[in-house]
Amino acid sequence: MAAETDENSSTLSPEAAFAVLGNETRFTILQTLWELYEPDDPANVVKFSDLYDSEDTVTFSDLYDRVGYGDSGNFNYHLEKLVGHFVRRTEDGYELTQAGLEIAQAVIAGTVRECPSIDTATIDEGCPRCGAPIVSDYENHHLAVSCSRCSGIWQDSTGENGVLFTLPFPPTGLSGRTAEEAFHATLAYNLNRIRSFIDGVCPNCSSAVEESLDVCTTHEPGDEGGCPRCNRQHAIEVSEICRQCKTVARGPLTIAILAAPVVTAFYYDHGVEHRFASWETFRRAQTVDEEILETDPLRVRLTVTVEGDTLRLTLDETLNVVDIVRGTSNSAQ
Ligand SMILES: [Zn+2]
Ligand SMILES: [Zn+2]
Ligand SMILES: [Zn+2]
Repeated sequence: MAAETDENSSTLSPEAAFAVLGNETRFTILQTLWELYEPDDPANVVKFSDLYDSEDTVTFSDLYDRVGYGDSGNFNYHLEKLVGHFVRRTEDGYELTQAGLEIAQAVIAGTVRECPSIDTATIDEGCPRCGAPIVSDYENHHLAVSCSRCSGIWQDSTGENGVLFTLPFPPTGLSGRTAEEAFHATLAYNLNRIRSFIDGVCPNCSSAVEESLDVCTTHEPGDEGGCPRCNRQHAIEVSEICRQCKTVARGPLTIAILAAPVVTAFYYDHGVEHRFASWETFRRAQTVDEEILETDPLRVRLTVTVEGDTLRLTLDETLNVVDIVRGTSNSAQ
């Protein structure tokens, strides 16, 4: 797609976008428009359908006064650089476009206004492998949860220092939350994003996703730690990549399979309301058995067990379920 910068165009090359944003005044303009943006206004939900007249546009003079920069000619020069892609000019004034809103949101989510932080904390949930207390720690925009006793699900190359999970969580998510609440919010935030990946849609940019299985065919996890070849406990991992925005996610297939409707129904039939975007998914994934049936073509079998009853799913290399067998505790053990 060709990069255009006229007012009617909403496309801009990445280089041009960086150039436009690489200026403090322009950034202050975006931030000011964001601060004046009212999420309660229904016009903002359907902004580009013209069903409502937004009351949130800001007049030139109001914007100029609030930003408080230089003479109005110079200010206008910077404002005009933003119009088209990041800022929309209407009859009444100026407002953020969707791209301008997303830039402001990314910066707000990624920066820390009041510097929220959480200390290392013990969470009131047991390790799914050994039952010992689990510990959460927040660093580099990631929440890492490890077991106080065992080496968890992923280990370093020595088979030690393992974690149960390390998942990204924006610092704004810490605001007003206890360590326990941040722990549950991290799981809800990430597992909902992972479900979008599984549905083939990048949760960041909505592009198509490349999904593949990463199989350790000579997998030998030890009692204490993971497999020396792949440093993890599970032999089969799902890798999700968005080539457009370079967002990635990966995790055990035993977790991904718990998003399947047939698994939810199986739990429901046993009186369990299984909610994928929760800690229960991590706990239940430890009770799912994985087996590599064939490598060419790839066929893997996952067995979910509830109260002695089993649900056996055979998957191909594209993660399609090609066979489903339900067994009772009498017939399938
Ligand atoms: Zn443990
Ligand atoms: Zn993407
Ligand atoms: Zn391995």
